Amino acid sequence: AKEVGRSDWQLYSPLMDSETYKSYHLEKGLRNALLQDEFFIEYQPKVHTNSREIDSIEALIRWNHPEWGRVSPEDFIPLAEETHLIIELGDWVIQHVCKQLQQWKNQGLQIVPVSINVSSKHLLKSGFVEHVQQTLAHYNIDPSFIEFEVTESSIIQYEEHVKKVMDELKKIGVTFALDDFGTGFSSLSHLKDFEFNTLKIDKTFIQHATDKGKQQAITKSILYLAHALNMKVIAEGVETKEQLAFLQKHECSFIQGYIVSQPAAPQKIAEYLKKPFL
Ligand code: C2E
Ligand code: CA
Ligand code: CA
Ligand code: CA
Repeated sequence: AKEVGRSDWQLYSPLMDSETYKSYHLEKGLRNALLQDEFFIEYQPKVHTNSREIDSIEALIRWNHPEWGRVSPEDFIPLAEETHLIIELGDWVIQHVCKQLQQWKNQGLQIVPVSINVSSKHLLKSGFVEHVQQTLAHYNIDPSFIEFEVTESSIIQYEEHVKKVMDELKKIGVTFALDDFGTGFSSLSHLKDFEFNTLKIDKTFIQHATDKGKQQAITKSILYLAHALNMKVIAEGVETKEQLAFLQKHECSFIQGYIVSQPAAPQKIAEYLKKPFL
């Protein structure tokens, strides 16, 4: 019981239902999940808009909790970001992606690059570059098969340092994508300074791209800008034929979204790699 205000005692703390309480349990669950092997990875294809040939795939982490069932990364990634866990989780993803690429290679499949979402907190951890290099070497994967996706909001805080790490990784052949483009801040200067290989237009723009409103105008301008800067552009979250038609009309070269494929298990991806037109 906790004393609140004047002389009344509260037997039931409203904290029990609060976000704080929920995140406390989630965080405990997360720590345990790493030990209990509750994570796995699904991969979502990115394809050439017109030919539908697979270009690359994005690794998306999944958590299957024995009691809670599937927990969305939208819920646990932000929490992991607040703690050291994002680094352990990120290392887990990088290692498993490399291992998966090696397995596909051993099955005789023609592999494609995999993009991995990475937190700037992880990127900035000392030894990150060496660790990535060691993992790639261990699984015998060429660095050009790895792309890191970073969000604008995550690079904003330690710009100089992030840029330095990115430059070191680019030097060995790893590429970088700017994720969720359009949702962050001061986007234009970041495009100039960081030299991302790829720009991913956030799905909120794509979902409104056919509305003829401001978001459509923004989407068109992003495409125009990316082309002018010679960047590879990917529209994410493409769901409808109308959205697809819009992107074709405005020459967006790559698409990703449910209209092509949901994030899928490695076995499904192996089928795609054998028959690479989706
Ligand atoms: P994101 O990187 O922007 O990933 C795209 C999200 O959109 C994914 O959600 C994907 O499943 C979903 N998506 C794909 N196509 C469609 C579509 O056509 N329509 C709609 N409505 N959604 C689509 P998911 O897998 O739940 O991941 C959510 C976020 O969690 C990711 O957003 C990313 O920020 C984070 N995340 C996921 N996996 C990892 C990871 O391994 N490491 C880190 N640091 N973050 C991750
Ligand atoms: Ca992403
Ligand atoms: Ca995204
Ligand atoms: Ca997102």
